[in-house]
Amino acid sequence: MSDGSRALRWCIAVATALLATAATAGAATITVVNRDGPGEGFNDPTPLAPIGGNQGTTRGEQRLIAFEYAANLWAAQLVSPVEIRVKANFDPLSCDAVSATLGLASPVSLFRDFEGAPRANTYYIGALADALAGMDLAPDEDDIEATFNSNLGTSCAFPAGWYYGLDANPSFDDTDFVTVVLHELGHGLGFLTLVNVETGRRLDGFDDAFMLFLVDARNDRTFVEMTNAQRAAAIKATGQLRWFGANVVAESGVLVDGVDEQGRVEVYAPPDAQPGSSVSHWSDQVEPLELMAPFFENPVHTPGLALAALKDLGWRLSSDPSCQADCNDNSRVSIDELILQVRIALGSATIGECAAGDRNGNGEISVNELVGAVSNALDGCPV
Ligand SMILES: [Zn+2]
Repeated sequence: MSDGSRALRWCIAVATALLATAATAGAATITVVNRDGPGEGFNDPTPLAPIGGNQGTTRGEQRLIAFEYAANLWAAQLVSPVEIRVKANFDPLSCDAVSATLGLASPVSLFRDFEGAPRANTYYIGALADALAGMDLAPDEDDIEATFNSNLGTSCAFPAGWYYGLDANPSFDDTDFVTVVLHELGHGLGFLTLVNVETGRRLDGFDDAFMLFLVDARNDRTFVEMTNAQRAAAIKATGQLRWFGANVVAESGVLVDGVDEQGRVEVYAPPDAQPGSSVSHWSDQVEPLELMAPFFENPVHTPGLALAALKDLGWRLSSDPSCQADCNDNSRVSIDELILQVRIALGSATIGECAAGDRNGNGEISVNELVGAVSNALDGCPV
């Protein structure tokens, strides 16, 4: 909903192919890697008064604290035995008196046909592929890269700036940084298609996990079934391009607009294909406001339907029932898996070797968690 006078755009860019300051103990671990140089971006020494629950005292500190806060919100919702590394920086992005790009994010790498892949010949973004494989498929690389606009509120003519508070309560015109980080991380975690939105061509001729759930409601043809030309047309079929993944459909009752009678949710399909924006957002018709809307409107600090979409893609959520200590996810706990739990508890193995025993996500295996693991081994996994 660009209103002509004030358009805040968030973008994505798909990649082809230091200082780690924070890790959180959630169901997943998202680590922020600060890529800014001395004196700029996340290291900007400009003094700022603490605001909205953010106790940082410089612009750089506040940016980092807000970023880590947002990363932790995602980390608490997702399950992965592999650390998710996000390299982030501030750089000048487009910005003028009437519009500004807020940020960009993309997965660093893509994988297909790895062990644990749910579907053959299909690209999965790095963080998800790692979670599905149960191992870091590219240990020398970060998983997500994100850039935020350093011009906003500092050197460009746009009449507003960033709000770094954690309380979703920016003053009238300022843009809530936590919301933007959450949104961009949503893309980096898989909320994006790899299809060329102008030509309809798939990346290297392979499906991607996101496109598996897209359908053109005019003919109920799915993206997978379409030719390139049909996809290119569906991408511009405003109001007709929809997400039919079961988890989103099941949750779509929260919407009052942008959803059809089958519970399929509208995907952003403006009449002119917009790289980085078309397809990889919910439609601007979707109400109430969702985190993965195509334009920034107001603070949103919950992933909303994006979480269900990530589950459709193959992410396990921390709210999902799971079998404690079932490291290989085969619905039973073996003697070897029990021994591994004990070794983790004693410090001779790491939690990364089997996070499935870490019920409370604190990075350790306690005696109580060992008891739970033994119970599952003896009695079977809870159904
Ligand atoms: Zn976006």
